[in-house]
Amino acid sequence: MSVARSILATRTALHAGRLTPHAVIDSALTAISQQNPTCNALVHVASESHLLSQAAEATERYRSGTPRALEGIPVAIKDNFVTSDMPTTCASAVLGGYCSPFDATAVRLLREAGAIVVGKANMDEFGMGSFNTNSAHGAAVQPGGEGRVAGGSSGGSAVAVKTGMALAAIGSDTGGSVRLPAAYCGVVGLKPSYGSISRFGLVPYANSLDTVGVLANNVADAALLHDILSHPDPNDMTCLPAPPTTKRNPRRPLTIGVPAEYNQAQLDPAVRETWSRALTAFEAAGADVVPVHLPSTVPALAAYYVLAPAEAASNLAKYDGVRYGKPRDAFGDEVVRRVLVGTFALSAGAHESYYIHAQRLRRQVVGEFTAAFTEVDAMVCPAALTAQAPTIDEVKHPKSGDSAYVTDVFTVPASLAGLPAVVVPAWDGVGLQVLGKWGDAAMVLDVAERLERMVVMGDDAGVDGEGWAEF
Ligand code: GLN
Repeated sequence: MSVARSILATRTALHAGRLTPHAVIDSALTAISQQNPTCNALVHVASESHLLSQAAEATERYRSGTPRALEGIPVAIKDNFVTSDMPTTCASAVLGGYCSPFDATAVRLLREAGAIVVGKANMDEFGMGSFNTNSAHGAAVQPGGEGRVAGGSSGGSAVAVKTGMALAAIGSDTGGSVRLPAAYCGVVGLKPSYGSISRFGLVPYANSLDTVGVLANNVADAALLHDILSHPDPNDMTCLPAPPTTKRNPRRPLTIGVPAEYNQAQLDPAVRETWSRALTAFEAAGADVVPVHLPSTVPALAAYYVLAPAEAASNLAKYDGVRYGKPRDAFGDEVVRRVLVGTFALSAGAHESYYIHAQRLRRQVVGEFTAAFTEVDAMVCPAALTAQAPTIDEVKHPKSGDSAYVTDVFTVPASLAGLPAVVVPAWDGVGLQVLGKWGDAAMVLDVAERLERMVVMGDDAGVDGEGWAEF
C-alpha cells in the first residue's frame, strides 16, 4: 500500500497494519532523493540510519499497542527552529554550522508525539522575504521544472509537504511566511493566534509578530498538529497558560465577511474568480455572506515594514561574532536593508514619525478587525495577489515599480492583529485565506474544512448532510 498524503489516513493504515513505519520513511526518503536536488527544500537531511532506527521504534510501539498521536509520521522543520541533532542556520551564512544544545519547544512536542524529523527546511534568511530567494542555501523552488519560487519565507516547508518529503512541516509566520508559500505551492498553511504555540527555540525575527505555523496536505492534518503544538510553555512568557478559548457563539446562519479592501485593482482575475466562486458556494450552502470594511489594509503593510525591521534590527545585534555568529561572515542584502531601515525607524529623530506612527496604525488595524468581527464569524479572502508564484527570474529582475513587499498585503493585517488564519488550496490552483477572531482557531479551521470539502467534492458539498445549520 502506498503512503496517503494525509496523516490521519496514514495513521489509520499504520494502526491496521496495512502500512509499516519503514514504508512511510522509505517513501519520504524516495521523495527527498528524487525531488530535493532540484527543489532545494531541505537544507539538512537526517541520516538514513537515524531515520530507520526511529521507524523501528515506531514499529515496536504499533506492535505493543502504545503508538502516540504522530507515531512514525515524517515531518520537516523550518531551519529557524533549533534542533539538538541537526544544525540550525536560519538560511544565513552568519550561522553556518551552528548546532543548538536543545530542541525548540515545538520540535520537542512533535518528537514527544512520535513524529520523525526528516530534515531542516529552506527559508529566507532569518525569515525575511516572500519568495525563499534570500537564502544562503539558494532558493527553494516548486516541483514541475518551471522555476517557480516556493514562496517565502517557509518555502522549504511547503515544498517538503507538497512533494511528500514529509507529511507535515512547521514554519514560522511573522507577516505571511506560512500562508504565502502554502498558497503558491497548493498546500494548507495555518498561522495560529499569537500566543497559542510556544516560540521558545524559534530564532526570533520580530517577536511581537512571530508565530509558529503548520503546513499540511489538508485541514484536518493541520488541525491535529495545531492541537498538539498549542501547549503552555513556561519558557515563553507570551505563550498562553492554557489554549485560548473564545466564547463560540456563531451566528445562525454562519456569517462570512468579505473584506472589500482586499478586492484590489492589481488582483489577478484568476484569484478574483476563485474568491467569488467560494463566496457563491458558501452562500448556496446556507451561509450569510456580507461585506466588511478594513480601511487600514494598505497602510498596514507600511506599518508592518517599519515594525518588523525595527524588531529585527534589535534582535540581530547579537550576531556579532562574540555572542552568536561568525565574525567574518556577512548578512545577505535583504537582512542588511532591514537592519538599516529598522535602526533608522528607532533612531531619535525618526522614532515618532515612523515607529510610533506604525504602532498607532497597528492599533487601528486591531480595532477594525474587532469591529468587523462583531458582525461576522469568519472572513474569506485571497492570500496572494497572483494565482501563481513568480519565477526566480521574475523575482531577480522585477518589472519597474514591482515591490516584493506588496506581495504581503493580504497576510500582514492578521499578523499585526495576532489573528488565526488558514490558507486552503481552492479552485484552479488559487489559495484562499480564512481569518478569524483571536483565539478562535476552531472556527477558522471549521470554515476552512467546509471550503476544502466544497473544492474536493463539488461546490454544493457544504449543503449535504452537514449544512450550516449544524454549525
Ligand atoms: N514577507 C514578510 C517579510 O519579509 C513576512 C515574512 C515572515 O512572515 N517571516 O517580512
